[in-house]
Amino acid sequence: MLKIGCHLSSSKGFLHMGKEAISIGANTFQFFTRNPRGSKAKAIDERDVHAYLAYAKEHGIGTIVAHAPYTLNACSADPHVREFAQETMADDLRRMEYLPGNVYNFHPGSHVGQGIEQGISWIVKTLNEILTPEQNTTVLLETMAGKGSEVGSRFEELAEIIERVELKEKIGVCLDTCHVYDAGYDIVGDLDGVLREFDQVIGLERLRAVHVNDSKNPAGSHKDRHERIGEGYIGFETLQRIVHHPQLSHLPFCLETPNELDG
Ligand code: FE
Ligand code: FE
Ligand code: ZN
Repeated sequence: MLKIGCHLSSSKGFLHMGKEAISIGANTFQFFTRNPRGSKAKAIDERDVHAYLAYAKEHGIGTIVAHAPYTLNACSADPHVREFAQETMADDLRRMEYLPGNVYNFHPGSHVGQGIEQGISWIVKTLNEILTPEQNTTVLLETMAGKGSEVGSRFEELAEIIERVELKEKIGVCLDTCHVYDAGYDIVGDLDGVLREFDQVIGLERLRAVHVNDSKNPAGSHKDRHERIGEGYIGFETLQRIVHHPQLSHLPFCLETPNELDG
């Protein structure tokens, strides 16, 4: 069965998100581990987590996707900013152990003029500091649109990060349809070609989640502006082919479109 859901607000806890997901016919969801702007996380409410786990089991909610605050920058030129990203991610991973077996997605970051190679080195360093052999969470690098100095808009950049991480078995990739399209991968004209390239460069076995978004801009625009499903340049048909694609259909799919829950 397809695992499909959307991004939900985590402010009312896990059980609430589980119920919201089920209420819209979803069987997965994504949530921010804390305020997306990166403030302090609320303490884990163990009763809520246990109630959620029982509810998820009963209702067949599959792998869920935690998203790190998008303001973190693990490859900033400023050591304090890098340190903050590392500490926040390490703390998130400790908290994720309450929900073992799920995935934690983050934006690799922006190198802000230091160059892609230096950016990659900082990201690798961060991952090698925070990943532990004991953890039960897979950390996902999100494919980026290549806006500004973002690292991770080329599959080769993600492959190099993975190559240099020691605990590779803890690392995967989350493919964002808007981002790869904006980065210049033609998923509309040649979806199979893009998947073949992903497989050759990164390995499709590393792909662990998909963000299903349409794009307000044409391929290669490097803009990262999500559009409602079917209302953008990617279009409904391609997005439908993606969620039903035999090489992808086992993955959790999360919509991040600007819609209210009933949308
Ligand atoms: Fe994201
Ligand atoms: Fe995304
Ligand atoms: Zn985006």
